[in-house]
Amino acid sequence: MDTVTTPETPPEAAATDPPEVLQTSDDADDTQPASQATDPEAGDPEAGDPEAGDTEATGAGTDVTEPLPPGQPTDDPDDNDELQLFPDEVGAYGEFEPDRPPLITPDGRVRLSFSRIDTLESCPQAFRYSYIDQLPGAPAPALSFGSSVHSALEAFYDRKLPDAPTEDELLAMLYDAWDSTGYRDLDREEQVRHYRHAQRVLRRFHRRAAPDYHLPVKTEAWFEMPVGDRAIVVGSIDRVDHRDGELHIVDYKTNKQAKSRQHVAGSLQLAVYALACKHLYGRLPRTVALDFVVPDVVVSVDIDEIDLDDARARIDQAAGVVLEGAYGPTPGWLCDWCDFRAICPAWPDDDSAEALGELELQAARLRRDVNRSVAQLRAVEAGLDRVRAELVDAPQPPLPTGAD
Ligand code: SF4
Repeated sequence: MDTVTTPETPPEAAATDPPEVLQTSDDADDTQPASQATDPEAGDPEAGDPEAGDTEATGAGTDVTEPLPPGQPTDDPDDNDELQLFPDEVGAYGEFEPDRPPLITPDGRVRLSFSRIDTLESCPQAFRYSYIDQLPGAPAPALSFGSSVHSALEAFYDRKLPDAPTEDELLAMLYDAWDSTGYRDLDREEQVRHYRHAQRVLRRFHRRAAPDYHLPVKTEAWFEMPVGDRAIVVGSIDRVDHRDGELHIVDYKTNKQAKSRQHVAGSLQLAVYALACKHLYGRLPRTVALDFVVPDVVVSVDIDEIDLDDARARIDQAAGVVLEGAYGPTPGWLCDWCDFRAICPAWPDDDSAEALGELELQAARLRRDVNRSVAQLRAVEAGLDRVRAELVDAPQPPLPTGAD
């Protein structure tokens, strides 16, 4: 087996050339809303404590939800006041427009993920800012930490070989997967501190998991599942195992501390995954588990302890909020961690001008990057055309003597 040299620091370029887009998730529809990037449940990211890493996010990629206004447009412009709130920019960037699934599908279902449902339940106004207005949040080290660890663990179980990757190989997977987007405001030393912490977490995980290594049925099992008449729920399950003739669901968490069995049994996310398991494989899992990799604790509950009817009702209720466009603010304790507080009507005294200025700066940076990329693309394509034409027009070399 090849020897793998374990990188002791995260990829250098990531710290010196941070991307402008802040949030990533490998579940294209399941990006954690900015308002929850610093969820107090996640620990204390603000203090720069790497142990604070928490994520509901499941990997890398950007939220590709196309902003759609609530309600259905009519022919009468006066009936479309809501539309004016969210001016339709589709087509403004021509061929560079991404092909995004709409929030409301053509058959009238709301496209939801666990994160979206969670945000709708916490505060519909925050949902609007995150998923309709698609405003970026502050850099979130906790999200990047969770995303990196998730990706490394996905690679660990996705080798299609019966033997467990070595510890060094797992750490190399972390290096390859390291997501620096949340650390752009931290210096290199601080990022290295987070990286070293992720290494420690994965070493511990390796000590636990390698002796019992098994190939799962699937990692990052993607699903798109109709629920009731009004919702389609999308997402991906971190790991689906097959043991003793039964299916078992595992979701990784990077919370600082493990949650209680009661919390796990009441987890809407696990209920959604149980329903998704039935949708994908035709049967419910025997158990659903949260693997808290930071404290190294797995909390597993039997499927009988999960209230699936309650989950279906909550999903339908969340879809109803979107269909009705009922995006009112719900002020509460989460406001202290919300990225949108300064522009939220629930907090009129906060400095909205400064927040708007920061958003405009971010938009200007994105526009600059797009301009650069388009200029570069045009130059490369033009050069390619010239070289291609020259090669086509060039006289063919004579055939070697004796050739037919
Ligand atoms: S500040 Fe509070 S009420 Fe306003 S969007 Fe954020 S969570 Fe909702």
